[in-house]
Amino acid sequence: QAKQRGRNGYQVFSSEDDGKSVSAQPIEHALYSAFQNDRLSIHYQPQISTLDGHVTGVEALVRWEDADGGWIPPDRFIHLAESTGFIVTLGDWLMRRACEDIEALRRRRHRDFSVAVNISQRQFWHADFVDSVKRALLRTGLPPQSLMLELPESLLVTELPAVSAKLEELHACGVKLAVDDFGTTNASPAYACRYPLDMIKIDRSFLATGERGHQVTVTSMVAVARELGVEVLAEGVETPEQLEFISARGCHRVQGFLYSPAVAAPVLEVAINQIEKVAAQVSV
Ligand code: C2E
Ligand code: MG
Ligand code: MG
Ligand code: MG
Repeated sequence: QAKQRGRNGYQVFSSEDDGKSVSAQPIEHALYSAFQNDRLSIHYQPQISTLDGHVTGVEALVRWEDADGGWIPPDRFIHLAESTGFIVTLGDWLMRRACEDIEALRRRRHRDFSVAVNISQRQFWHADFVDSVKRALLRTGLPPQSLMLELPESLLVTELPAVSAKLEELHACGVKLAVDDFGTTNASPAYACRYPLDMIKIDRSFLATGERGHQVTVTSMVAVARELGVEVLAEGVETPEQLEFISARGCHRVQGFLYSPAVAAPVLEVAINQIEKVAAQVSV
């Protein structure tokens, strides 16, 4: 059990993992050591209102810097952090850092601005989760309404009273709630009316503009959002054709490589200024 404790006493690997294959161990240790050695960081991707060209917020996306200065994408390690329980420690740190970075930016720019943080199931269910959100807000000064929690659709479709209770508790703190990758579980979108949601994020897999089925799906997602009175944002907009496609269906918030990939905190302001400058030129 002792070897399962990190240097500073964080419990990294839970006892549930005792029977796990040895081959998974090295990457678990590498991830933890990356965390300890400041090799995990957050990149931020701007979210744009296409109606006025303003950046309305950013999504915080974790990155792992490898020894050669490259970036290991979260898809390669988030599920691992979930299975070991390390996501709780990591998620707490990410939340705090994201609030801190964006509060600093809001103050410098005197502008309202939100940060969206991805929450994994294991993190959501941790007993300390709601308190950890409150702590991050309190310690950084970020107003609750400027924090958006992105929740996996798989969590929301489970229809457990405990999900409702926790969402209500978060909603009561004033933070915003979004469904991430909306439509990917193939569940009826009716689940969304049970919760105090503020936004649905259309998964980028629905932006293949040529497909008739996707056109119908996007149209109905926008209708669902309107019916619920929540914002709708399209993820993964890469081309002017995709922008045209979703705009024509009434979705006016976007995020994607067409505008900007996720960028490191020190260059985020430059990226935002660039996006807004281009928008201003287009509208004259
Ligand atoms: P997601 O939350 O759906 O995030 C959107 C992903 O799409 C990001 O990938 C982003 O870089 C990518 N993306 C954005 N625009 C475009 C585009 O125009 N084209 C394409 N092809 N991709 C685009 P990323 O950063 O690799 O993250 C992958 C997933 O990992 C995220 O999906 C999220 O589920 C998870 N993740 C990332 N950061 C965190 C985190 O801090 N905590 C947790 N729990 N999960 C995270
Ligand atoms: Mg997300
Ligand atoms: Mg998403
Ligand atoms: Mg996605």
